[in-house]
Amino acid sequence: MYRMVDIIAKKRDGYKLSQGEIEFFVKGCVDGSIPDYQTSALLMAICLKDMDLEEATWLTMAMLYSGDVIDLSAIPGIKVDKHSTGGVGDKTTLIVGPIVAACGVTVAKMSGRGLGHTGGTIDKLESIPGFNTQLSPKDFIRISSEIGIAVVGQTGNLVPADKKLYALRDVTGTVQNKALIAASIMSKKLASGADAIVLDVKTGSGAFMKTVDEARGLAEAMVGIGRNAGRRVAAVITDMDRPLGNAIGNALEVKEAIEVLSGKGPDDVREVCITLAAKMMEMSGLGDFKAALALAEGAITSGSALEKLRQMIRMQGGLDDIVRDTTLLGGAVHVKAYRASKNGYISSMLSDKLGIAAMMLGAGRITKESPIDPAAGIVLEKKPGDAVKQGDVILTLHANDSTLFEQAVQRLDEAITISDTMPEMLPLIIDFIG
Ligand code: URA
Repeated sequence: MYRMVDIIAKKRDGYKLSQGEIEFFVKGCVDGSIPDYQTSALLMAICLKDMDLEEATWLTMAMLYSGDVIDLSAIPGIKVDKHSTGGVGDKTTLIVGPIVAACGVTVAKMSGRGLGHTGGTIDKLESIPGFNTQLSPKDFIRISSEIGIAVVGQTGNLVPADKKLYALRDVTGTVQNKALIAASIMSKKLASGADAIVLDVKTGSGAFMKTVDEARGLAEAMVGIGRNAGRRVAAVITDMDRPLGNAIGNALEVKEAIEVLSGKGPDDVREVCITLAAKMMEMSGLGDFKAALALAEGAITSGSALEKLRQMIRMQGGLDDIVRDTTLLGGAVHVKAYRASKNGYISSMLSDKLGIAAMMLGAGRITKESPIDPAAGIVLEKKPGDAVKQGDVILTLHANDSTLFEQAVQRLDEAITISDTMPEMLPLIIDFIG
């Protein structure tokens, strides 16, 4: 029989925990036998003394088996999943999913809602009139088998240990630890049942991992955990110092995703999506990376990826006509231009602050219960590195309540810097791990 106080003291003194101790901790945290103050103390000790890969794997597996584990074996073939570690303007799932499915690999995916300044795929999909993200398990399996793609919200009992631990980490300054983040993400990904998983680890101002080294460390930890768990896992490190694409906000991002799938849309979104889609296909055994890149490009050019998105929208009860007429998504009543205050180059656009500004316009939740305004958000006309003249429109703000503009503009003033010299920019695709 373990005692929680001994486990806390052991980690405080920098020793490695055993599998039994970690399983005791996770079980007690979920069933309520360990009080929150002891859980929080251990979380802080982990933050200060860290965990090695073996401990992080034990933690992940204990969390994974704390609730429902999804069985996708009824769906034929390899099932592939993707996870992006929180971004601003990140509509990759809406694009990558249909591309991969159009190329013949099944994407039966559970996605999340927005968190803090980052958006969530489920909120984006729900901006499509009629779209149902709460399919029954039977319909989820049926639709994934029939058309090769379905995207739903997480079931209530998927990794309850993470719900408990995440809520405590959020209020005890213990979110920022590589092992804890890796276990949180990987427990949910492994519980979601896919055979192969591609992790899109973001780095930069809009991401959890602010530096490339931190992102690389997190990616290595997650790939290592996935391998220890017997799944095929690879990671791509991508830049989130600037928002991805031009649209931030739910319906605005769906519209941009449709543009990219129609062979138009911003180059940065297209590049990241083609790369992620190719990596997912490579991991699913569809050929080497170069061949997979050509398949992904072909799915856009031929229109088959856009057609796959249409099928998914239709099968999940949504208005599939939006694919040919995006005005059916509706728009905000008020649109306001945000202009350059001087001549120069946009040297930074801090994506976390842009995400907060979009949230203040109604695109995200201020409190857990607040409703989302699907039409609200921001559309960028200029991006970091672009030259501007005083008075040029840098972006437009979209809201149904014009009193929300003032506070959002304050955030934009903090987010956007115009300098005399052209900034140096990281490449969009920074590294591949695994
Ligand atoms: N996303 C998660 O799901 N968990 C974390 O700990 C951080 C980001």
